[in-house]
Amino acid sequence: TSIPRSAQEEHIFQSRHEAVPVPDLTLPDFVLQDAELYADKVAFVDTVTGKSYTYAEVVRDTRRFAKALRSLGLRKGHVVVVALPNVAEYGIVALGIMAAGGVFSGANPTAHESELKKQVEAADAKLIVTNDLNYGKVKDLGLPIIILGEVCISTAVNWNELLDAADRAGDILAYEEVHQSDLCALPFSSGTTGMSKGVMLTHRNLVANLCSTLFSVGPEMVGQVATLGLIPFFHIYGIAGICCATLRNKGKVVVMGRFELRTFLNALITQEINFAPIVPPIILALVKNPIVEEFDLSKLKLKAIMTAAAPLAPELLTAFENKFPGVQVQEAYGLTEHSCITLTHGDPSKGHGTAKKNSVGFLLPNLEIKFIDPETGRSLPKNTPGEICVRSQCVMQGYYNNEEETSRTIDTDGWLHTGDIGYIDDDGDVFIVDRIKELIKYKGFQVAPAELEAILLTHLSVEDAAVVPLPDEEAGEIPAACVVMSRGAKESEEDIMTFVASNVAHYKKVRVVQFVDTIPKSPSGKIMRRLLKEKMGTGSKAS
Ligand code: AMP
Repeated sequence: TSIPRSAQEEHIFQSRHEAVPVPDLTLPDFVLQDAELYADKVAFVDTVTGKSYTYAEVVRDTRRFAKALRSLGLRKGHVVVVALPNVAEYGIVALGIMAAGGVFSGANPTAHESELKKQVEAADAKLIVTNDLNYGKVKDLGLPIIILGEVCISTAVNWNELLDAADRAGDILAYEEVHQSDLCALPFSSGTTGMSKGVMLTHRNLVANLCSTLFSVGPEMVGQVATLGLIPFFHIYGIAGICCATLRNKGKVVVMGRFELRTFLNALITQEINFAPIVPPIILALVKNPIVEEFDLSKLKLKAIMTAAAPLAPELLTAFENKFPGVQVQEAYGLTEHSCITLTHGDPSKGHGTAKKNSVGFLLPNLEIKFIDPETGRSLPKNTPGEICVRSQCVMQGYYNNEEETSRTIDTDGWLHTGDIGYIDDDGDVFIVDRIKELIKYKGFQVAPAELEAILLTHLSVEDAAVVPLPDEEAGEIPAACVVMSRGAKESEEDIMTFVASNVAHYKKVRVVQFVDTIPKSPSGKIMRRLLKEKMGTGSKAS
């Protein structure tokens, strides 16, 4: 738009908290700073295998792995795709890649073979780290593969052997120095529109985000936190918000590869977890599932849960508070493009004053926010909903190899346009009211409609298709497809769902299909998603 954007005319809101310093360190150096003082303390423990790593071991193996990667030919800026579930070694793998000057790109280990291939290609990856279970899905991509665990596959490099070889190699490899301005992570996100894209994050982006996120953690908390490591570590919430934040404070990450309610409750009690970052569907299970009654909840050491990645229904929040009195609920809002957390609730015991119930939180220190009218681009005053735009040192460098989407998302003044609608009230508490971007969030996982539409269009009987979210109590949202079938097509709605399911990870499955005559489109050919969402919302049934 042609509206002048001078700061005086704009409604820009600053954090209500004092700015915090951001030290000039790489992410591994920042999170492992002072680790020698906690050498024997457990940093990671795996709830499935019981395997654990102390801080001394994390430092040692991060260095060994970085050295090993260099010896395999990894150079600064090279991308390594990691297709692993949450395991005790995950943090070491990610930090080792970054310490070697490489770029960590986490992939969902449940992804379909074709989805992993897409990520490996889009990221121009040079190497893959995976486990025996996922090896088959990446073995034909023509890249060297490192396999975690005891298994030996002749065409892959075994993790333990690799680290041992690094010890023997001596100090022959001169490092190119890694700077804070270098890229260190390339998580994938569909952003406001289209396909999944690599989000370029530097060491600076992530260190800045951690400094802002941890602003309220005092010295008395260092070494005291036991964090649940259930949120997938391939996602920025898992690797930055859980692994890196906990390591920075020398806490313990209790690693859990998948959600199973009994294992989860057992771990909460036996591992004395006091901080559990989760997503709304898990809160729903804690409130509703009768299995919870089998456990003596008085044994819980849980002090706080953090919920992010998707909206938390107010009734669910109340039900949780009634069932778990004394457990603080810290809602948070963030996005991959902003290196993780952006808005959060304070800890009342810290005297910061928490944000209001049902607010998603206040703005973290060092950040600026504004709310714009999506039509005119004009920034709006308090208490007026608009598209949330954030500006800070945490804003990504852009989408990898995608200038067009980058300039659509970050404007010339450095504002990141989030595609979420919200407002700020008189006290600086922010409320999210809607999402205007295409993104669907199934249990907090990203599902890009464009990706499912492209798959649907490969079906010979499908002429046109559009995918939109439908509300769902358990998952938050489910992907639903409107499909135009070709004349005389024999397939049923179920057949179309099965077809999509055979091409995507389980969480991306289309769960409702409705046959229609046409897909409503704007004169410029854009799918009118809002209209479709309304239409589908009335008169469809989930299968
Ligand atoms: P991701 O990049 O996968 O973390 O997805 C970010 C998106 O998830 C945001 O742009 C929001 O649409 C949504 N989101 C994250 N946290 C929240 C929250 N607390 N409430 C509502 N939506 C959220």
